[in-house]
Amino acid sequence: MPNPLVPKDGVWRVSAHKLNMMRKCPFSLYLYLSRFPSAESDRSYLSCGNAVHDYAEELTKGCAKEPEYYLGKYDVPRVNSDGKDIHKRFYTCIENVPEYALQEGGIPERTEYTSFTTPKGRNCRLETRIDLQLEDSQLKECKGKVIVDYKTGSHVKNNNEYKLQAQCYLFAKKGEYKALFVSMLDPSEYFVIDSSPADYIPKLCDEYIDTVLMHDFERKMDFNCPRFCPYYQMYCKDEYAKCQQLIVPEEAQTEAGQNDSED
Ligand code: SF4
Repeated sequence: MPNPLVPKDGVWRVSAHKLNMMRKCPFSLYLYLSRFPSAESDRSYLSCGNAVHDYAEELTKGCAKEPEYYLGKYDVPRVNSDGKDIHKRFYTCIENVPEYALQEGGIPERTEYTSFTTPKGRNCRLETRIDLQLEDSQLKECKGKVIVDYKTGSHVKNNNEYKLQAQCYLFAKKGEYKALFVSMLDPSEYFVIDSSPADYIPKLCDEYIDTVLMHDFERKMDFNCPRFCPYYQMYCKDEYAKCQQLIVPEEAQTEAGQNDSED
């Protein structure tokens, strides 16, 4: 029987999100590609992040509305289940947005696709979502050609997922741009990546494809699972941890390998 996770047209859709899952926990990648349902997780941070990004994008275009409009549009709760003040987080973030968004000639958010062939000869298409592209940044953190990625959490510097995302930007831009990742919640939290081996992402994509082809979806449990993984309750908690033989659902058989979305 053909592997339903292999794209029928021979083009592997990859993204920083999928590569991160492969590196962190291949089992979560398997669940994601196979479209297994995940538990409802706290979406307060996500909705706040979407509201900040929308505000930043419209600010760059010169058509930003009142901040409350974005709180309503994304249904951002005032307080989340941990008792954190999410509106305060939103207002703090948007106070810091202008310095980054209002750069002369800045190109606001858009999705780009980069086609390439891996060292093992596989055809890939990398999806990147760019918050802001600057041709001549005068930011104190990073000058010249820069891709800026706004984050709305406070911890940015030591986040390996963001570092991989930065490598994807550099690869997609053929090393012509630097990547600046900065927290809107605390702009002293930032990092810049200005170089990356040209074959880093293609090799990682080969690793990703090998994982799928060999069905080598190792489950990597750690202390973060219960708190941060939306699959924990349904597939990894206690009695379920012995991993039943999971069957790829019908719909995944036509869609999993075709999924371009990073969600
Ligand atoms: S709960 Fe942990 S082991 Fe299970 S899929 Fe998520 S990250 Fe992987």
